[in-house]
Amino acid sequence: DAPASGKPFTRFDLEKETELRFEVEAGDASEQVEMELVTGMAEVFGSELNRNKKYTFGPGSKIAVFTWQGCTVNLYGKPEVAYVSKDTPMLLYLNTHAALEQMRKQAERDNERGPRVMVVGPTDVGKSTVCRLLLSYAVRVGRRPTFVELDVGQSGVSVPGTVSALCIERPADVEEGFSVQAPLVYHFGSTTPGTNIKLYNKLTSCLAEVFSQRCEMNRKASVGGCIINTCGWVKGSGYQALVHCASTFQVDVVLVLDHERLYNELKRDLPHFVRVVLLPKSGGVVERSKECRRETRDEKIREYFYGFRGISFFPFSYEVRFSDVRIYKIGAPSIPDSCLPLGMSQDDTQLKLVPVTPGRDLTYHVLSVSSVDDGDEDARKSIVESPVCGFIVVTQVDTQTQVMKVLSPAPRPLPRHTLLIMDIRFMDMK
Ligand code: ATP
Repeated sequence: DAPASGKPFTRFDLEKETELRFEVEAGDASEQVEMELVTGMAEVFGSELNRNKKYTFGPGSKIAVFTWQGCTVNLYGKPEVAYVSKDTPMLLYLNTHAALEQMRKQAERDNERGPRVMVVGPTDVGKSTVCRLLLSYAVRVGRRPTFVELDVGQSGVSVPGTVSALCIERPADVEEGFSVQAPLVYHFGSTTPGTNIKLYNKLTSCLAEVFSQRCEMNRKASVGGCIINTCGWVKGSGYQALVHCASTFQVDVVLVLDHERLYNELKRDLPHFVRVVLLPKSGGVVERSKECRRETRDEKIREYFYGFRGISFFPFSYEVRFSDVRIYKIGAPSIPDSCLPLGMSQDDTQLKLVPVTPGRDLTYHVLSVSSVDDGDEDARKSIVESPVCGFIVVTQVDTQTQVMKVLSPAPRPLPRHTLLIMDIRFMDMK
């Protein structure tokens, strides 16, 4: 097409209720595509676009620009793919939002609580996108919903290996997603719930309790309800974890994306007053390889330390003496029941704090900084169920001098001395 402002672009005319899907090639950090709404109205995953503003999307982005009324969009740069689709489940998603909004209105009238919604389904069905859409629509009509992120592999809120909750006060930014200020974050320690399912369920209950307390004190939060994003593990203990989540959060609605068996199982196993709804996935959701997921995780940790796009953070690197901190791993390796000390169960071992002796193998591990210090036995017991105040990465270990070097978002000293080790490692290539 004719270069207007010097840059070549491609123009797309979208009819009503269609979407333009495009992807930016991953791998090359300099790759980017700019998108501009020229006429009409459109939205990206529930957030409205401003006309004549250029939005920039970096490598690996997979975007859908949807229009209810029809619009024209320009793409600048070379997207890996770009096509218009008429076949989208957006109308069904909007109807879902309308039904949830009805429940909020009723809650307001009857002085009750708003809908608690759990979004479930296998990997790559667009769970996170549906959560983002429903949250943005809710906040656009003046609600204050809470986002609960239980996907420990691909967290939209904090670094991988955590579960968290976030109060949503404005729609997601088109380029950057939700503004993550003051989230409540708990340490899980690995990227799949299966490594310690007891801990995973325990943390789900912790979040549910804090959310319920907040609802008691804050009417808007109570009416707004919550949208819970879950992991794509829907069999065995993964399925049990979903049932546990539904019960501990007392969810009213379960949205099952593209999985009929899971839908039938949940209908069978959840109480009859829980509305279980089967929704199709969008054809636009792109399958992501293991490698791609690993890269996204790495990127999330890099963002935590170095910032994102316009906002640069400057992390600190300093030495920490082994004697100044206490490092724990949550959960002892499982041993046969017959070998457990008298009166102890497997549950106890999975939630146990196991001291870690610092050694060279600590290098590159991500450590959570617990918000409580292990002053006495009672404090130690509460560590597992307490939120964290941040993360550091071990970059070097010197066993001779008993010192380790860490990468930290804040200058020395560490705010607390109790550190929890993750299975997750981060190599700082910057
Ligand atoms: P996970 O397996 O991590 O739980 P998920 O089910 O939550 O994945 P999403 O993260 O919502 O899936 O979506 C996967 C990718 O597909 C994301 O990069 C998202 O931006 C993209 N995507 C979602 N919907 C569309 C669409 N309609 N058109 C184009 N891309 C889309």
